[in-house]
Formats: sequence, C-alpha cells, structure tokens
Amino acid sequence: MNEKKGLTRRGFLKKGAMVTAIGAVCTTGMVETASAKSGTYATLIDLTKCDGCGNEPIPKCVEACRKENEKKFPDPKEPIKDLWPQKGHDDWSKKRDVVNQLTPYNWTTIQKVDVDGEEFHIPRRCMHCDNPPCANLCPFGALNKYSDGSVVINHDLCMGGAKCKAVCPWHIPQRQSGVGLYLKLQPLPAGGGVMYKCDLCRDRIKKGQVPACVEACEKRLGGKKPLHFGRREEMVKNAHERAREIGGFIYGEEENGGTATLYVSRIPFERIDSKLKETKSNLLMGKVLNPLREVNGWAKGFLIGPLLSALGAIGLAIYHRREGKKKEKE
Ligand code: SF4
Ligand code: SF4
Ligand code: SF4
Repeated sequence: MNEKKGLTRRGFLKKGAMVTAIGAVCTTGMVETASAKSGTYATLIDLTKCDGCGNEPIPKCVEACRKENEKKFPDPKEPIKDLWPQKGHDDWSKKRDVVNQLTPYNWTTIQKVDVDGEEFHIPRRCMHCDNPPCANLCPFGALNKYSDGSVVINHDLCMGGAKCKAVCPWHIPQRQSGVGLYLKLQPLPAGGGVMYKCDLCRDRIKKGQVPACVEACEKRLGGKKPLHFGRREEMVKNAHERAREIGGFIYGEEENGGTATLYVSRIPFERIDSKLKETKSNLLMGKVLNPLREVNGWAKGFLIGPLLSALGAIGLAIYHRREGKKKEKE
C-alpha cells in the first residue's frame, strides 16, 4: 500500500499503540493525582542515636543501600549528548564513589551539622510522602505511591525531565543522562535521562524483609540503633513516645502532608534547618506545607501541555511495545 495514501499495517499498529498510550496517559499519570493516604510501613530515624558511623570507612546504612541497589544503577551509553536546548547533561557515572550527597548511585547519605558544639548526623533519603507531588506531577506516570508506603520510580518509563526533583520539597530524585527511554526520542527535546532515588527497598518489603539500611544499622548497633522500620501507626506512636522521653521534636508527621520517613530529635528541626542552610545544602529540614496548594502555575500547565502529552504518549507506546516484545519472547 502507498505510504502517502494509506497506512501500512505496521503504521496502523503504531498509531493504535499511540492512541492506547494517550488513553493510558489520560487515565493514569496525567490528570489523576495519587491519593493522600499513608501507606502500611514507615521508617523512624532517631537522631539522638546516629553517630554517622564515625569509625567506619562508609556509614553502614549507605554501604548496604549501595550494595542492595547496585543492579538498578544506570549504565549510560557514551558519549552522553547534551540536552537540547540547554547546553549540558547530568553525568554521575564517573563519580560513583561519592557518598556525601544523593546521586543516581547513592540513594541515602548522612548529613553532619554542629549545633551549639554538638555534632548531629542526619540520615537522608526520600521521605516517601503520603501525597507525593513528584508522583502527582510526573507527566509520564513514571512515579507511583504504593499501599506499603513506598514512592517508586519506574526506570523503564522515566524520561528524566526532572519535574519530580523540581516539585519535591527536598529535591530528592537525581538524574543520570545517557540512559532510558529519552534516547529513543532524540533529537526531540524530550526528557534527559532517568531519575533515581530510594525506593524504600520495596522488593525486600515484598519478601517480608526490612530495608537493607535498617538491617545494616542494627547489625552494627543492635538495640541502640537509630533506624527503625515497621507499621506506620507503630512508628508514629514510637516517635511520640521518644519525643516525650527526651523533650524532643518530630519531623515528617505533618510535613508535606505526612511522610513515611519520620525523624525524632532533641533539637528543634528549625535549628537543624538553619544549620543546614549555612552549609549551602539544598537538602533541608524546614517546615513544608501541603505541596498541592503550592504547585506553581507552570507545573499545572505542564500537566496538560499538549506537546508533552504527546511525548509522554510516544514514550509510553515505546515502553508498552518493548514490554510486549519481551512477553512474546518469554
Ligand atoms: S543510621 Fe546507623 S548505619 Fe547509618 S550512619 Fe547512623 S548509625 Fe551508622
Ligand atoms: S520526598 Fe520528594 S521524591 Fe520523595 S516522595 Fe516526597 S516528593 Fe517524592
Ligand atoms: S530503604 Fe532501601 S533504598 Fe532506601 S535508603 Fe534504605 S536501603 Fe536505600
């Protein structure tokens, strides 16, 4: 059949996949928002007990997280091209050993602050928000909040547009360029890699195990460990008990509408926050309101931008076709 006059069977199937994908976008990631509800599990981090693993080459929780997630880390194709129209790209692949900040190869890190001559160590990772703006605003439906409490990025679907990082109050997700679906769409200005962050060890939770970081910390400190994992209501109860015991404060119960990562501290979080600001970190611990009231106009516009909708649909179509092929092979 003449391509100009009509569609080939292949072209028809492609268009069909696209229409299906547009439908999927409209019914999943694009217009619906993740509901505001807490999940089953949460982590409680007691800042009075973390010593930053000062006597270890790498904090045990960080080491365990890296080992656990090694197989999910990106392996970019060289040369990594600049994103268009910006000049530049994000490449952490030659700095895989960096542990003092969040990167695509390091999903948890320990911040250090000095308050009134006392040193505090703060394990940081995704907060797993009850109402995650990252998932609500991802135009490709690549982020999901699950009933176990985790907020997880689907690396096969992520285009690396980094809108999740822009709307995250703590700027948690980190981008690696040169990997992912966006490579298939070049030279279209779509995305720029894949975003990475802590997934609450969802695969381990499914097997009835605790997250790797919690297990490693317990191996080192036993009952004195600062990291606790369990049912969320129990973690909230424990946080309140501990806060009462030490005359302390809780972070994460209300922030951003509630999160599945809770902190308890003897020092007010406002003070920790101002100390973190002095270090010029953008991983802060300030008050955060419900993000859905704070979403900028541009972000709302982004949700319905027709060009991006179409790009999202193309991305989804490629993903579904690839998944289909995989299943056929199997
Ligand atoms: S949370 Fe535990 S393993 Fe991690 S730095 Fe603190 S004491 Fe070490
Ligand atoms: S902390 Fe940021 S990345 Fe994590 S769930 Fe909340 S908004 Fe998303
Ligand atoms: S829960 Fe898992 S992915 Fe998240 S910081 Fe701990 S070990 Fe890393």
